[in-house]
Amino acid sequence: MQNKSLKKLYLINPRGPCAGVIRALDIIDEALKKYGSPLYVNHQIVHNDFVISEYEKKGVIFCKTPEEIPENSHYIFSAHGVSPQFKTRAKKQNITIIDATCPLVDKVHKEAENFTKQNFHILYIGHKNHPEANGVMGISEMTLIDNIKTAKNITLSSHQMKKLTILTQTTLSIDETTEIITILQKRFPDIFISKIKDICYATQNRQDAVKKIVPNLDVLLVVGSPQSSNSVRLVETAKKHGCESFLVPSEKHIPFSFLIQQGNIGITSGASVPEKLTQKIVNALCEKFPKNEKIYQEGKNEKVQFAMPKI
Ligand code: SF4
Repeated sequence: MQNKSLKKLYLINPRGPCAGVIRALDIIDEALKKYGSPLYVNHQIVHNDFVISEYEKKGVIFCKTPEEIPENSHYIFSAHGVSPQFKTRAKKQNITIIDATCPLVDKVHKEAENFTKQNFHILYIGHKNHPEANGVMGISEMTLIDNIKTAKNITLSSHQMKKLTILTQTTLSIDETTEIITILQKRFPDIFISKIKDICYATQNRQDAVKKIVPNLDVLLVVGSPQSSNSVRLVETAKKHGCESFLVPSEKHIPFSFLIQQGNIGITSGASVPEKLTQKIVNALCEKFPKNEKIYQEGKNEKVQFAMPKI
């Protein structure tokens, strides 16, 4: 039997910031350098409390509506994107807009525009009130499918059923989305399923890495905030594959009393989490459990980079 006081800490790769988050943060850094503070950002630039509070200290103000921004200010759209209606409202203000929408979210916007032009009714698989979902669903009248139950029960008009297709949020659970699509295909056999995948590479790679490692783990810690869709999906993925898992927004949230009884602890982080925060959590674990061995679990090498917009 394994001696549980000797912990094995598995640091799972890939983890942490994706290309879209890195680009969004670089855009804020560049804008701060060029225009100084206060700098206005729509919503949270990425869903991570640690990142948000670091930027607030630098004079970044996160706001919900373009109307609350003073004239002649600079205003950044977050990585989640915004709806066309929101863009129009922002453009009416006397402010300069910088768009940090992730190019992979933008790709879904373009698909939505194309499908709409072709008179498709879009079933959008995503989370209600998530900023990314709000942005895409502003493009045309769509039907939100937020879980398996909705997929099983949704009723559509005969007009909507004439030409149906699907789009998804970029940060969903791959397993659950596959299940939802199968249900929708059974219920609406003529539905058009595009070959273009909307769940992004970063979401896919982080979930794949978790599925691969969980058979070796007693517990998985996911560094990330509760409002981060892709972090929450990593917890769900581990649980679905039989491994206890906790979301850990900061060192204060490490479930030490549970971990005392566990030998093999996995650590990963959502796509909005800076490695600095993950290392703080690893250091806190090493302090509490000095008899540990760190094991680096190599996963897919990510080489994705996105070009910066003009700032
Ligand atoms: Fe872009 Fe995916 Fe990162 Fe979202 S999680 S910002 S879609 S790369």
